[in-house]
Amino acid sequence: MINSEMYRLGSAPSSIRELFEYGRKLKKEIGDENVFDFSLGNPSTPPPQAVLSEMERILTESEPCALHGYSSAQGDLAARKAIAEDLSSRFGAKISPDKIYMTCGAAASLCITVRALVSGENNEFIVQAPFFPEYRVFTENNGGKLLVADADTENFELNIPAIEKLINERTQGIIINSPNNPSGVIYSERSLNELASLLTEKSKEYGHPIYIISDEPYRELTYGKRVPYIPDIYPDTVICYSYSKSLSLPGERIGYIALPNGVSDIDELYFAICGAGRSLGYVCAPTFMQKIVASCTGQVSDLTVYRKNRDNLYAALTVMGYSCVVPDGAFYLFVKAPGGDAVKFSEKAKELGLLLVPGDPFGCPGYLRVSYCVSEETVRRSLPAFGRAIDLFQ
Ligand code: PLP
Repeated sequence: MINSEMYRLGSAPSSIRELFEYGRKLKKEIGDENVFDFSLGNPSTPPPQAVLSEMERILTESEPCALHGYSSAQGDLAARKAIAEDLSSRFGAKISPDKIYMTCGAAASLCITVRALVSGENNEFIVQAPFFPEYRVFTENNGGKLLVADADTENFELNIPAIEKLINERTQGIIINSPNNPSGVIYSERSLNELASLLTEKSKEYGHPIYIISDEPYRELTYGKRVPYIPDIYPDTVICYSYSKSLSLPGERIGYIALPNGVSDIDELYFAICGAGRSLGYVCAPTFMQKIVASCTGQVSDLTVYRKNRDNLYAALTVMGYSCVVPDGAFYLFVKAPGGDAVKFSEKAKELGLLLVPGDPFGCPGYLRVSYCVSEETVRRSLPAFGRAIDLFQ
């Protein structure tokens, strides 16, 4: 017998992947230049030159068995030390290298954290809509239950009353993601403070900590606005980080989990993270990439193209009659679907070679995600198609 749930997950690709594959086929039929693929969050700016040069140096100078061998299960001390120093110099963070666990990207960081926290009856995790759809897969397949707080469609901020309604004695954590995929919003210090007060009160009421699981792959992708450092606001914060976007290395699968000094039950939680990593087979993150991290913390890919795409798309789409909040970070616009039905709009847009992801799996029907990590040329050439698409619904 085969696990039917795993079969379901493996045989039904996500709607984002499905659209991306459709785009690949369409490009073969009508030419690359006629397809405007805004489906995937794959960086369109290369890794920083310092990272590329360091890759060459390390490849040339390292002893191959060591470079391509196993690291310790939780990751090399050099990488963990460099991360702790970087977080300390940028945010004044107090994090011991002994409380950092190297992972294969944010997906692994999240799966491990959920599995480490699920305990007896305490297995519920809350997420704020709109949210990265894979959170459901990561949570539900690691023993957790995912509850979705309604979106604040006015500002796409944290919706504290909606979150409060979902908290109960079974709540183990809330997953937040800022800058946010898909809205591009950076949660304000004010709303994070409100969340912190709520969680402090509820943790006391239920007699156990309710952790914030802060999914931060877009932390460095901002266009002027500061991203609050969440452990300063709420000490029970587990940081789940990835270099997929900040260093444009999604294919290299490298990230980490960090437990800042103020986290409750920190020693037990760290061992549980090591145990969850072991049980999932997420040990010894790629050694080569850990060496890159050790010498390149603080580097960020050139964000110029993202900023230009954001500005150009936002300006052009709002003139055409589309509406969306100004995204301060990440590389997404979350646009209200003209006509109200995002699935219908996405299907019509496909006929124009325009690939936009409906907001339904993000917990926000009626919206469309536009991933603008594409070339400036693609944005420029796509504008007439955006214009024709909205005309069909007016
Ligand atoms: N979390 C969010 C919000 C994302 O957008 C992504 C990828 O797009 C991930 C997690 C997964 O990141 P990684 O590729 O590092 O596993």
